[in-house]
Amino acid sequence: MSSGHSIILIDPEDQTRDVLIQRLRMQGYKATGFAGAVEGANAILSSPPSAVIADLWMTGISGVQLTRLLRAEPGTERVPVVLRGPDSPRNRFWSERAGAAAYVVKGRMGDLVRALGRSVIDSATEEEGFFTQLQDAESAIRDRIAAYLDTALFESVLASEVRALSTCGAFDRLFDLLTQFVSQVMSYRWLALSVSRPSQVALHAHPAARGECEREARQALDLPVETPILRIEDEDASADPAAAQPLVRPVEFGQEIVAHIALSQKGVGDHQDVRILDVVARELGGPLRMALLVEETQRAATTDPLTGIMNRRALLAALDVEQARSERHGYPMSLLLLDVDHFKLINDERGHATGDQVLAALGQLLTRQARKTDIVGRWGGEEFVVVLSGAPESGARIAAERIRSAVERMSVSDVKRQRVPVTVSIGIACLEVNDNAEVLIDRADRAMYQAKASGRNRVVVSPTVLRRTGTEIEIPRELL
Ligand code: GH3
Ligand code: MG
Ligand code: MG
Repeated sequence: MSSGHSIILIDPEDQTRDVLIQRLRMQGYKATGFAGAVEGANAILSSPPSAVIADLWMTGISGVQLTRLLRAEPGTERVPVVLRGPDSPRNRFWSERAGAAAYVVKGRMGDLVRALGRSVIDSATEEEGFFTQLQDAESAIRDRIAAYLDTALFESVLASEVRALSTCGAFDRLFDLLTQFVSQVMSYRWLALSVSRPSQVALHAHPAARGECEREARQALDLPVETPILRIEDEDASADPAAAQPLVRPVEFGQEIVAHIALSQKGVGDHQDVRILDVVARELGGPLRMALLVEETQRAATTDPLTGIMNRRALLAALDVEQARSERHGYPMSLLLLDVDHFKLINDERGHATGDQVLAALGQLLTRQARKTDIVGRWGGEEFVVVLSGAPESGARIAAERIRSAVERMSVSDVKRQRVPVTVSIGIACLEVNDNAEVLIDRADRAMYQAKASGRNRVVVSPTVLRRTGTEIEIPRELL
């Protein structure tokens, strides 16, 4: 089983230490006990054992500090340390980050034995005297240094975890990762993040307490009832009722407040929770700004600024995807190409600004008319494309006619408050075997020009191209 592995146990309470030593010996370990952390550390450093068991909280050196010390020394860097303390996710997190092999709840013998069995190492270095022995006299000052260092380390680990969120590239993902991490280091009822520009709010709460948590979060962050909230619900948040006022902190970037973070502590909370929230609020500004910028850049790269719909690049990319999907599943797809009739006249007679207004109104009208699954984009100038997924020619005709007549009825006024009559000519092309986006748009374009030639303000469907298969191709005589 344990084949005489040596264990050093540090436990300040004589009785529990003796009991544990007995039990470890029964398991076949060569266990030696120490009451003080400093003596224990001395013994470990001068003759490294196969494993160390220590308390998280000890006078002289904390368990976490002892672990860091052993990890840092070449002679003991591989000696596993099992830390024991109260049942708390924060302690577990902290211990693991310090390099402990395991964290077990004090008093759980079975867990301790299993943790030892997993982590014990075979050959600890037998060399001795590689480390100057620690001085007992220093223990008072060491207490303070230990406490200070542990706090500083814990905070720096927290800070770097928050900073690591800067690569996540989207607000919802950032919030999700943030809650996963904060709920590991403290217990809360709800955690909320409210960004001012562009306005977005996210809330993490327990599913059983969602209504009440949302009310509290809206109140704490001063959010009107109609502000939409992105909700993340799981049991990492607590369902206990509120026992204290929520904590709210500003999140700054540079000199500017970019968001507010708020949380409702579980029970009456503790002062460490406040410290954690302060560190998170202090570090979150940069990563949050980064995520918002990435989102904004992606939006700007794919959106036409005048109309707010997809630009040509995004449209082509979406069309490619849609076409591939239609081909794979064998369902129809139609494409409408719209061109404003005599648009140059609108610009010339009523000014370019009115022309722009017409284009923006058309973008909105097309978005309203299209289904969620359709793709709407500005092809360029006064030309628009609507991709109707799943629509055969008959459906596309109906949709195009509906759009044509809606544009005719559309109301845009110029600077003199006079109604600007707008009509469009629409060309329709339907997806055929082996089509590609370019060919499809080209057919729609030809149909649209036919609509222009035959009087404008009308819909024309491109004739079906009868594709010849390889065997049917006539090969010119002279090539035979
Ligand atoms: P047709 O019925 O044959 O399509 O006539 P048209 O006048 O619409 O056609 P033409 O292609 O000659 O004119 C298109 C005009 O659209 C010319 C161009 O100045 C204008 N235009 C292109 N982009 C914009 C824009 O972003 N804003 C404004 N206001 N005008 C634009
Ligand atoms: Mg045109
Ligand atoms: Mg035109």
